[in-house]
Amino acid sequence: MSLPDRLSRSLWLAPLGLSLVFVLGVLAWVRGNEAEEQELQRQTLISDALSTEAQLRDRIDDEQVHLRQLAAGLAGQAPSEAALAAHPEVNAGLRRLWQSVTWLDARNRVLAEVPTESEANRYEDGLSLHLTARVAPDGVLVVRYAPALLLKRGVPWWLARKYDVQLVDSADQVIASTTDSPLRAAQGEKPSYRVALTGPLRASPLAQATLTDAALELTVRDPAVNAIRPLAWVLVAGFLPLIAVASWLLRRQMRQVQRAEVAGRTEAAWRRAMEDSALVALRARDFDGRLLYVNRTFCDMVGMSAEQLVGLLPPMPYWPPDALAEVAERNRRNLAGHAPREGYEARWQHSSGRMLDVMVFESPLVDAGGRQIGWMGSIIDITERKRLEDRERRQVETLAHNARLTMLGEVASTLAHELNQPLTAIASYGAGISNSLAKLGVQDELVLGALQRLGQQAAHAGRIVARIREFLTRREPRHERCDLNEVITAALDLLQRDCQRRGVALELSLAAGVPAVLADAVLIEQVVINLVRNAADALQAKDGGRRIAVSSRVAGDFVRIDVQDNGPGLGGRRVEQLCAAFYSTKPDGMGMGLAICRSIVEAHQGVLDASEAAGGGALFSFSLPLSREVVHG
Ligand code: ADP
Repeated sequence: MSLPDRLSRSLWLAPLGLSLVFVLGVLAWVRGNEAEEQELQRQTLISDALSTEAQLRDRIDDEQVHLRQLAAGLAGQAPSEAALAAHPEVNAGLRRLWQSVTWLDARNRVLAEVPTESEANRYEDGLSLHLTARVAPDGVLVVRYAPALLLKRGVPWWLARKYDVQLVDSADQVIASTTDSPLRAAQGEKPSYRVALTGPLRASPLAQATLTDAALELTVRDPAVNAIRPLAWVLVAGFLPLIAVASWLLRRQMRQVQRAEVAGRTEAAWRRAMEDSALVALRARDFDGRLLYVNRTFCDMVGMSAEQLVGLLPPMPYWPPDALAEVAERNRRNLAGHAPREGYEARWQHSSGRMLDVMVFESPLVDAGGRQIGWMGSIIDITERKRLEDRERRQVETLAHNARLTMLGEVASTLAHELNQPLTAIASYGAGISNSLAKLGVQDELVLGALQRLGQQAAHAGRIVARIREFLTRREPRHERCDLNEVITAALDLLQRDCQRRGVALELSLAAGVPAVLADAVLIEQVVINLVRNAADALQAKDGGRRIAVSSRVAGDFVRIDVQDNGPGLGGRRVEQLCAAFYSTKPDGMGMGLAICRSIVEAHQGVLDASEAAGGGALFSFSLPLSREVVHG
């Protein structure tokens, strides 16, 4: 298989390859898009985390300011729970975030506390953080607050909805969270960001040691699901089998097309080979007579190329110039669809000027849709056949002419023979009557003159007959050395067609090496023809299995030729009767055939004989002497 062929066979892979490239492109795009999105999300997360941290810090700073104001308000007062509880800042702080406010002395002993230990139940379990402020002259106010509450109050609602905000210590323990049951493990996969705490959150003097390294962690609550990615996967997953099926179908289709193409090419090659090797010339014409197609045989027949012929309109260059009108008329008839079904003979002219006889058969030319678009002509060159037929016809005519002459000679000879005697008798009787009258002394000039003229006329008639006979039989047999086998073969060639038409099988068995005889080949040929024709006539009465066997052999000094049929036979008739002049049992028979045959054979010093054949039928045979040179030489 050549490279282009292989390429065209693999062409179906191209859409598959392009589709795979497309899929990879989509996947790359989705990945790129995803990375971009993640980066965006991360940046948002970072900025949210930083802003949350800042807000919390602000909140603590706020609380610190409130605590300082409280401390300033309590300066100089005796530390008591009532003084604390009565202060509006304390109540406001407890409503906001504070868990408790404790008044300590310089040595960190509790002087007063609001609310009392028993009341403080909120967030007791959770970790607490502290804010402190000095109270003049030497006290310290400590406010305890729950980081969980700080987160709940300090983190704006929209951030709390978006993230889980947690305070985490250095040991990765959750100190506080905006969710009630933080599940660290579950959050592992979600994007998160941690900001180290700064400022008052860490600066609390009472802060536990662990808190010094605390951090604020924001975890994305519901990571924004990338809508494109699953969709892309679904599309790709659906697209790949579809493209695989489509490619398979395409491949099948291409294979089918290729097979059809190969079949078409093979068929075209076959057709061309058949058209070119055909002995029949082909031409296709449309309804106007324009040549649409000619095969090579047609081109050879008229001596022109297909390029010269195709497209030509009548009159055609191969029409004989001396019969243009007649051919044009016939052409009109053919194009009108009235060409004879059994074909018609035409005479064309080769480009070299040579004339040729053709037989043309016209049939409708139909297109692939079954619509007739013109006429298809099949043309056979019958020039040679016609020449042979002409020659044969001339031969038969010559033969018939010869036969007629021979027969006429024989008839004349027979007539002369038959008439001679009565004419002689008439003359004798005339002379006898004249003599008798002279003896009786009759001097009647009239009667004597009439008798004399009778004698003269009879003699004249005799001379006329003799002259006619002489004229008609003047052709002496020309004795030449001839090969009897050749003579027989030539005679049977002439009869072959006639016998075929009558359903008679001719069987020929010629002895090899039959010596030449001295004979007139034309006359001997007539004898053979006559005998075979008679046998064929006799076989007409037979229903089937008609057979004539012709054989030659050497018998002593003679060559013997047998013509045997399987017809009705001779019915006891002997050869003399059959050979008698004018003896015939046929309605239109003249009865001279066998008589002539015998004359010819005897003129060659031969013998003609007839007998019943062994298996029924008649056996006619004649023998001719071998030429003396042959016999003795
Ligand atoms: P014609 O053919 O004109 O009848 P022929 O002299 O050739 O004259 O034949 C004389 C007759 O001899 C025929 O009419 C036919 O009755 C008989 N005859 C000749 N050949 C055969 C034959 N092969 N078989 C039977 N009869 C034959």
